[in-house]
Amino acid sequence: MLTPQTPTEDTLYDLAIIGGGITGAAVARDAALRGLKTILFEKTDFGAGASTKTSKLAHGGLRYLEYGEIGLVRESLRERNRLLNLCSPWVKPLPFLFPVYDSSRRPLWQIATGIRLYQCMAGESSKKWQRRLSADAVGDRVKGLCADGLRGAAGYTDAQMQDGRLVIENIRSSLSHGAQAYNYSDVVSVRRAATQWHTLSIKQNSAQFDVSARCVVNATGAWSNDVLNRIGVERKLVAPSKGVHVVLPDIGLDAALVLEAPQDRRIFFVLPWEQRTLIGTTDTFSDDDPGSLTVNKDDVRYLLEAFQRYFLERSFDEDDVVATFAGLRPLISSKPGHAASAASRTHRIVVDQDRVISVAGGKFTTYRAMAEAVVDLVARRLGETAALATCQTDVLPLWAADESIKNGAPSDAMPDHWPDFYGPRATEMATLMQARPDLAEPISPDFPYLKAELYYGIQNERVHCLEDWLERRTPIALSRKLTPRFIKDASVTFETMRGAS
Ligand SMILES: Cc1cc2nc3c(=O)[nH]c(=O)nc-3n(C[C@H](O)[C@H](O)[C@H](O)COP(=O)(O)OP(=O)(O)OC[C@H]3O[C@@H](n4cnc5c(N)ncnc54)[C@H](O)[C@@H]3O)c2cc1C
Repeated sequence: MLTPQTPTEDTLYDLAIIGGGITGAAVARDAALRGLKTILFEKTDFGAGASTKTSKLAHGGLRYLEYGEIGLVRESLRERNRLLNLCSPWVKPLPFLFPVYDSSRRPLWQIATGIRLYQCMAGESSKKWQRRLSADAVGDRVKGLCADGLRGAAGYTDAQMQDGRLVIENIRSSLSHGAQAYNYSDVVSVRRAATQWHTLSIKQNSAQFDVSARCVVNATGAWSNDVLNRIGVERKLVAPSKGVHVVLPDIGLDAALVLEAPQDRRIFFVLPWEQRTLIGTTDTFSDDDPGSLTVNKDDVRYLLEAFQRYFLERSFDEDDVVATFAGLRPLISSKPGHAASAASRTHRIVVDQDRVISVAGGKFTTYRAMAEAVVDLVARRLGETAALATCQTDVLPLWAADESIKNGAPSDAMPDHWPDFYGPRATEMATLMQARPDLAEPISPDFPYLKAELYYGIQNERVHCLEDWLERRTPIALSRKLTPRFIKDASVTFETMRGAS
């Protein structure tokens, strides 16, 4: 990627995007593919907001059927299928089991009927439908699951994604189609400079500069209200809801579990992820500053208690927790009075000052469709031509297909985790390592991660600090308990590489 071009104050861009989460990244990709002169600014790192704090599911959202959100579920399933087709190996099928107990809110037949409807909406043929499992069969498959009162389970398939990779790959794709994108670039103001364009002021390190664009997209998730304020618009577009996840050691699941939290009967997931077990999530409206969100002990306790109800013999306490992470869902503001978990996940697009387009809400899963709708609107504002009107992201794979990864076993020199972490990029890293054998060493004796991975991130993926690489270019820090020695070794390696580059 990518020596960054410098933004030029005397260029009039077609489109300036504020926010480098999945929504902004996807808008940048779609716009660049349609030939728009596009520039994106992210105030911290790409994906540092909600987009790397998800439950890692590309899914239709079975539970939204309960709220009658048929349109949302249908769209999400269609997009899930597209992600599976166009973004593999970063989006993979994942089997799910929905165990039902005597105490469950709904009987097994109702859950199974809902799942049938879900599978029909996903366009699955009935041959692919999974049967109901008896209580004994569930017990055999999920070791340690509480059998007391268990009536059986209904099964289905959804998908698991690598959220951070999808963000960076959308950014990379936008750059390769001519866009410019900058992390650590805070848009501090947007003012209408003339009827036809706006001027944005951007703070990058200690420098400040202006950029002008004919259209502006505000894709700042939980920050949307604040950014609208900076534009001079008094609008409460989002009502953020906080979600926390806890990562536990691997309990040997081969399927995700959909369970009811005993405390409030909300649905939560227990998921196999990165050879660990991911539990989440909480869902509570929050006024916290999105930039300094923390995980509190009550959230961790809630999730551990919910998990414990179903795995009585697996006693995990706070010391066993491998990692925790929290994010703010940019839910669309609606009438007060209902729980965050019942709030709609549909997205909303609003236009202010004629050419400032804000997009919020939705789900990670629907990012492509949201971006398409936004760029369609941008195209109309700019005077639509046939080229501008033609979206390509519904058919174009996220990256150029790489046969050596798709067809061949990974080369001997390639660590086991590379194909999963980096997909086709792993081949580029292996080539790099051949040219630079010094990069084939582990960063630290404590983990199998190689210097080549960090070097590649710094050189090609705008890694500015170690955290960018550990939390967003890879899932390392969110899925591993890092040792002090690893952190020290990685910091020294990072500083040496940064100094030399
Ligand atoms: C706990 C949790 C679990 C979830 N699980 C799932 C799931 O499993 N599947 C699913 O489909 N969806 C899931 N979601 C929803 C999904 O994460 C969000 O819908 C999606 O990530 C929103 O992306 P975004 O780009 O709109 O917002 P964000 O990712 O929050 O990005 C907004 C970006 O704007 C930047 N920004 C803010 N102000 C400025 C400024 N002034 N200048 C420049 N940049 C700025 C921020 O730094 C941030 O990076 C989950 C959400 C949460 C919180």
